Amino acid sequence: MPEERSHPEVRDAVARLCADYPDAYWRDKDRDKAYPLEFVQALTDAGYLSVLIPEQYDGAGMDLAAACAVLEEIQRSGANGAACHAQMYIMGSLLRHGNEAQKRKYLPDIASGALRLQAFGVTEPGSGTDTTRIKTRAVRDGDDYIVSGQKVFISRAEHSDLLLLLVRTTSRDEVEKPTQGMSVLLVDLRDAIGNGLTVRPLETMLNHATTELFFDQLRVPAENLIGEEGKGFGYILDGMNAERILIASECIGDARWFIDRASGYAREREVFGAPIGKNQGIQFPIARAHVQTEAAALMVDRACRMFDAGEPCGSEANMAKLLAADASWAAADMCLQTHGGYGFTVEYDIERKFRETRLYQVAPISTNLILSNIATHVLGLPKSF
Ligand SMILES: Cc1cc2nc3c(=O)[nH]c(=O)nc-3n(C[C@H](O)[C@H](O)[C@H](O)COP(=O)(O)OP(=O)(O)OC[C@H]3O[C@@H](n4cnc5c(N)ncnc54)[C@H](O)[C@@H]3O)c2cc1C
Repeated sequence: MPEERSHPEVRDAVARLCADYPDAYWRDKDRDKAYPLEFVQALTDAGYLSVLIPEQYDGAGMDLAAACAVLEEIQRSGANGAACHAQMYIMGSLLRHGNEAQKRKYLPDIASGALRLQAFGVTEPGSGTDTTRIKTRAVRDGDDYIVSGQKVFISRAEHSDLLLLLVRTTSRDEVEKPTQGMSVLLVDLRDAIGNGLTVRPLETMLNHATTELFFDQLRVPAENLIGEEGKGFGYILDGMNAERILIASECIGDARWFIDRASGYAREREVFGAPIGKNQGIQFPIARAHVQTEAAALMVDRACRMFDAGEPCGSEANMAKLLAADASWAAADMCLQTHGGYGFTVEYDIERKFRETRLYQVAPISTNLILSNIATHVLGLPKSF
């Protein structure tokens, strides 16, 4: 069955790089809850994290399909691109809405790896999915903004130099629409930590370097405002299509990894004197996962092509994310079942990948919110909230 294989040269090169980071590497990192620094450095050095940065800022200037190819191959190898995937979509806000001085200051260093832009601060304990209710506030004071508030689930803040932060600059009750009055600041974490920003690791069921952030009168230079004050929500929304399509590609990579592992095991494991894969009770779920994954991959590919053509693709990006996350989760469950008891052992890596891919039912956007968006925006059903 032929797969969609855009950018085969990128895929082959990424697969070769990933081969240097075998299962045992990821297993150890997972056990120790450690950041895969060596892997991220190797990807950075090879230029894969800067594929979307234009050549004029020293990136590779490639399309989203190339970035999708990178992330899919990472996941397909058994690795976890969540350690660094955010750089690919966060920098889009800087690229599209930053001024020329900001782009010149940051993008070439991000492309070279001298600066890491891995942290994206949107979610708050009190707002959850309803982003317009964020409370973290930035008040202008001379040449600075003074930021106070709290964020939660902010991944990789301990492994990033820069944080793209969504704040309220005008409170919700003072604006016409709740989406107004929010702004985006680029926070230099090297200056901020210990000077008004406290980062506290948040342990989760997967190795995701997630943290809570506490802002107490943090001064951020006003020159670090991205775009116009009050328009930040739109800038974040702008980046979401790329984010969803990229995460969907990761899910496709995960699903293919689960299917490869399950097929291999089902061919080799003998029970009752025959390979378990001879039983249709084992083969059909594997075949179904394959069918589901290939169908999802078509939608991911379609959304990606529309994005690269500059066409509106919000619904397609949402559908791609939902289908791919469902495909990877179904493949994970199937793979665990195929492995019987061994699926639960750490040394087979299934349980690790199972935990990792589960995240994509919830983040960066949950399945329910995608369904709600499709119901109201595509099908014209009334909004429930
Ligand atoms: C490991 C991890 C890493 C993350 N990394 C980041 C990060 O780097 N930066 C960042 O900003 N955020 C990050 N997040 C946060 C993530 O984006 C949120 O968890 C997610 O958006 C959901 O928000 P919530 O957890 O507050 O859930 P809630 O908004 O409290 O929702 C809880 C449940 O209710 C459902 N729900 C809510 N409203 C409705 C409705 N109207 N109709 C139907 N169902 C509804 C949701 O779908 C969800 O299943 C991360 C989360 C995790 C777990």
